Amino acid sequence: MGLTPMMQQYLETHEKVKDAILFFRLGDFYEMFFDDALKASKELEIALTGRDCGLDERAPMCGVPYHAAESYITKLVEKGYKVAICEQMEDPSVAKGIVKREIIRVISPGTIAEGKLLESKKNNYLMSLYQEKNTIGLAYLDISTGDFFVTEISGKNTLALLMDEVGKIGPSEILVNPTLFKDTGTIKTLEEKFGIMTNLYPARYFEFKASESRLKEQFDVYSLTALDLERREHSVRAAGALLRYIDETQKRVLTHINHVSYYKNDEYMILDLSTRRNLELTETIRSGEKKGSLLWVLDKTVTAMGGRMLRRWLEAPLLEKKAIEARQDMVEELYRHPGALKDLKGVLGKVYDLERICGKISFGTCNPKDMLSLKQSVSALPLLQAFFAGIDAPVFRKRYGEADLLTDIYELIDASIDDNAPFALKDGKVIKRGYNEEIDGYREASEKGKDWIRDLELKERERTGIKSLKVKYNRVFGYFIEITKTNLDQTPEDYIRKQTLANAERFFTPELKEMETRILGSEERLAQLEYELFQDVREKIIAQIARIQKRARDVAEIDALYSLAQVAIAGNYVKPEITNGPELEIENGRHPVVEEIIGINHFVTNGCHFDGKDLRMMLITGPNMAGKSTYIRQVAVIALMAQIGSFIPADSGRIGIVDRIFTRVGASDDLATGQSTFMVEMTEVSNILKNATQDSLVILDEIGRGTSTFDGISIAWAVVEYLWDEQIIGAKTLFATHYHELTELEHLKPGIKNFSIGVRETPEGVVFLRKIKPGSADQSYGIEVARLAGFPPAVTNRAREILNILDQGEDTYREGMIAAEKPSFESAQINFFDRIPAMSEEEKAVLNSIKDLSINEMTPMEAMNQLYGLQSKLKDN
Ligand code: ADP
Ligand code: MG
Repeated sequence: MGLTPMMQQYLETHEKVKDAILFFRLGDFYEMFFDDALKASKELEIALTGRDCGLDERAPMCGVPYHAAESYITKLVEKGYKVAICEQMEDPSVAKGIVKREIIRVISPGTIAEGKLLESKKNNYLMSLYQEKNTIGLAYLDISTGDFFVTEISGKNTLALLMDEVGKIGPSEILVNPTLFKDTGTIKTLEEKFGIMTNLYPARYFEFKASESRLKEQFDVYSLTALDLERREHSVRAAGALLRYIDETQKRVLTHINHVSYYKNDEYMILDLSTRRNLELTETIRSGEKKGSLLWVLDKTVTAMGGRMLRRWLEAPLLEKKAIEARQDMVEELYRHPGALKDLKGVLGKVYDLERICGKISFGTCNPKDMLSLKQSVSALPLLQAFFAGIDAPVFRKRYGEADLLTDIYELIDASIDDNAPFALKDGKVIKRGYNEEIDGYREASEKGKDWIRDLELKERERTGIKSLKVKYNRVFGYFIEITKTNLDQTPEDYIRKQTLANAERFFTPELKEMETRILGSEERLAQLEYELFQDVREKIIAQIARIQKRARDVAEIDALYSLAQVAIAGNYVKPEITNGPELEIENGRHPVVEEIIGINHFVTNGCHFDGKDLRMMLITGPNMAGKSTYIRQVAVIALMAQIGSFIPADSGRIGIVDRIFTRVGASDDLATGQSTFMVEMTEVSNILKNATQDSLVILDEIGRGTSTFDGISIAWAVVEYLWDEQIIGAKTLFATHYHELTELEHLKPGIKNFSIGVRETPEGVVFLRKIKPGSADQSYGIEVARLAGFPPAVTNRAREILNILDQGEDTYREGMIAAEKPSFESAQINFFDRIPAMSEEEKAVLNSIKDLSINEMTPMEAMNQLYGLQSKLKDN
């Protein structure tokens, strides 16, 4: 017994898409078999059945109705699967032998072109990586919008830079060449840490010559020079492979992919993953949500395109004074017209997601409503132009004065598509009356026919005298005259019987039959013609798609600028002066997110006055909850905002451009994530020490805390010295620390200054002042807080005693510490054991295991488990 022919066809088809779940079209269903069926039935919670396949055992099978397939596909892709759609390529009723079937599309996380998996204000990228030696070519494309970028990463830190870039771009799927794929560590990081689907893609797809010609073809150019890609072999290979993958999975020509931008990754500020995370640029650390992030505050964009543009700006701050100022000037021009911004918002509100509509038009999945949305969006362009003429904005006039208004596109759609066209093309009434004579003719014929039939009912009622006589239509039987059983005796001679029902008979007449043929014929022809004309309009638009996309980008940019201006007005921000100097001066700055959350009136402002000479490093001490972490992040966030061209929450600012911002939070302060160990902390500090320059801004929050005190202080001290040293790094640094000992550095290193954030004691408790001031915090402050918190006086007194011992005597801190700590520690131990004389061997063993724990190397979860285990040992006793 062998496989049935259909099963053979199924298996042959599946061979072509081994890593995908195959949706195999059988009549009105997409069926899945074998392993696919086992997987899909579980993931989709649908019934698993079986089907004879010619073998002894039935093949496991499950299926979904074709009209509901989209939601099932979405579910599978969301769960990280690829889905291949295999259609019947001929009408089964006329096919000879087995119906011809073909895969028409493969859908994976990186190739989603529409639907609810796409976030409106976020790009969905497919990425391709080609590594050879120390260079990685990197290409990425949002297939739903056509945004296509390439870059090249090389040097000694290639893999680290790659991770920063991937973290910034956030692709949902990556193609990897075999060389890079062998680096299992990298692949694991991509898959597990970033949660990205990665595919090994065979070397032949990255072949240079083929890639080159594929690129030339796609972008319609004669040479790579026109794409700014000459002598960028790695990029060309990555981009070529990406296009080949699109060809193979989408199986159609995508005209909206007509533009590729090469950028150097040093054109933009590199932000490593931990910095991005700690500054909460696009999502919060705790919940991973946009709410509570910097983007949440800055994003007042009206359109989805503007939202995506603003997010891209935030992910890639600028490094060039001119470029920053150009953006600032545009924001300023809008900022100066607060009253008019409402109008601008109104105009932007008329614009739909043009970029993704262009994608749908190119994909061939656009519907009549998309065309109307395109028309309405285009109709906003003259209004936009009028807006800029109205506010007399010189910066914009240059760019938008003579901009393309896409009048031809508007006119084409306006003339051809009915204003009330439905979503589905097959529902008809799509092409506007007057656009095509033939269509109008058929419509008239069918309408006339229908009038005739309506008249027929009246006429026949009169003729037969049957008041309840009806002329009806259904899809199976066409038009017919229906007479109820009680009136059958009055049926005229010329009626011909068509069908008998329980209590009625259906008839037709030769003239009714003739009219039916005429009506149905025109309707069929009409549907055909509407389809053809719609495709014709689509083709005409595709020919102009690059022009539409260009205007879409303009609107996106205006929207992002509008957002920055709007936020600046509402939040009372100012335009900072941008310099190439070492200074970072902020007068009365605020943290834009914290102030938004606690209310602008509750936020205490704080300045910052780095000048590159007298102040290059701030050491900030103060009790817990004083506001240290907020302050140092505020400075970093303000610098970053300035470099994306935004205004800043402050009274004034002079911002020397920084090449990179680094942040690191001490492992013990970062417990929320449960994965940050001291080792990770040290790795990241090491990254800072290796990459920071004199132009960098470094934010260190309680580093060194994850190990023993001496260890921690020593590390922190050495890190400070290294960062401070202008011969080595000399970066602008803010260091919030509870290690009071570090404040000594102020006297040893010019440029380092102590600061503290004070609190005031009142009879009611501690009041946090939130104001940063020169000088270090009072060291015994912690003990005061303990006293206020109700510690027994014996404990606070003893703490003061120890502090005094620590403070006096020896010159160096370390010796003092050793001298002070030894006796008191030992005596405490003796006391402890004295009080528990009858300790069992088991209990001692528990104590010993506690002693031997390497707490710094444990995750909170492991610590919990250990504790749990120890406790149950004691309980067992
Ligand atoms: P620390 O790092 O010193 O322990 P945080 O920076 O975490 O303190 O601040 C603790 C809380 O104090 C924050 O959650 C914030 O709500 C509030 N806070 C911090 N700075 C300010 C400020 N300048 N004005 C008002 N509230 C602030
Ligand atoms: Mg803190």
